[in-house]
Amino acid sequence: MPNCIDFAQLPSRSLLTAFALIMLSGWSGEAAAQGRGGQSERPARSTRNILGGVPMSAADSARQKIVARLDFDSYKELIRGLTEFGDREQGTPRNAAAVDWIEAQLQGWGYETERVHYMFTPRGSDTPEPREQVFATKWGSDVPGEMYIISGHMDGRGGGEAANDDGSGTALVMEIARALSGPEIETARTIRFALWNNEETGLNGARAYVEQRAELQGIEDPAGSGRYPEPKWLGMIQHDMMLWDHGNPVTFNQALDADVDIEFQLNSVMAAESAQLALVLLNANRMFATDYPAVMSNAMSNTDSTPFMDLVPSVSLRENRRLYETGNRANPHWHQPTDLFVTFSDADFRLGFNAAQTTLAAVAKLVEAREVGARAEGN
Ligand SMILES: [Zn+2]
Repeated sequence: MPNCIDFAQLPSRSLLTAFALIMLSGWSGEAAAQGRGGQSERPARSTRNILGGVPMSAADSARQKIVARLDFDSYKELIRGLTEFGDREQGTPRNAAAVDWIEAQLQGWGYETERVHYMFTPRGSDTPEPREQVFATKWGSDVPGEMYIISGHMDGRGGGEAANDDGSGTALVMEIARALSGPEIETARTIRFALWNNEETGLNGARAYVEQRAELQGIEDPAGSGRYPEPKWLGMIQHDMMLWDHGNPVTFNQALDADVDIEFQLNSVMAAESAQLALVLLNANRMFATDYPAVMSNAMSNTDSTPFMDLVPSVSLRENRRLYETGNRANPHWHQPTDLFVTFSDADFRLGFNAAQTTLAAVAKLVEAREVGARAEGN
């Protein structure tokens, strides 16, 4: 620990060495306790020097500029906005109001939006009821008929604000949409931003999307129009619970080895292709995430990418591995009234923000995102 060095006891040359060690270790005196609920910004630590330098090409630098369009305060503000609708439990007026609010934000950034309508039968009832969810689309300039789906689930439970589960993943998808909005960013292929409903009741919203639209993939409609209502699915990236990696047993602060968990499902038809997609995300994290590393795992479960995993490369990003950690009490706020905006510190929000950097950096490569006017170099 650099702050244990007694400078008074050191001759000058050793003093210089000590300073050099401090600089190389990336220590910046930021290990102090962090405030909750969006108080002063205090990342847990910098991993830049731990991860080591990765040489960047001109194309990588262009990608870095796109990732830099993400804004930490905007991400937090989107989570806070979602928490104003409480836990957004499916079937409630606050859930419907949150769908409206999400759609209004997406439209405000210039996106064309669409709703998926489906029927859901609540537990204990035998009467199906109508439900809705919204998505927005960034149409590809060169290959509009192929797309990546980036998603989170906007419904929650627990009686609190569902800030982490899954306000954090919903806001992540929205913040990436905001960062890519406007005519100054073009993508060769299409991106769809999906905010699923009814995740907490059994992935019903994502399942409805697959049931209604899998068969429509890649069909030009009307013929010759260049329009593809359902572009062919190239990959699906789900985000669910992005903020909290406090170890297990749980500690007060974000764990020093907190990371973004990228999972695919080994027991799926597309396992090998999904592992490749996960690797693209892992590499993107190493090059473009500012504070937290990522790890890969192969037991994706209980999330909206599950209905896609036999059809298309599918991965899930989380604060912890779902089965081994979340399922073993790694997050005491999960589905509880304490899943509130004020429960989380900036170090927590920063983990979700690093997942946003990871996904945007990966997708920017996959869809060939570019700033209009910027010349593509290097590749
Ligand atoms: Zn969730």
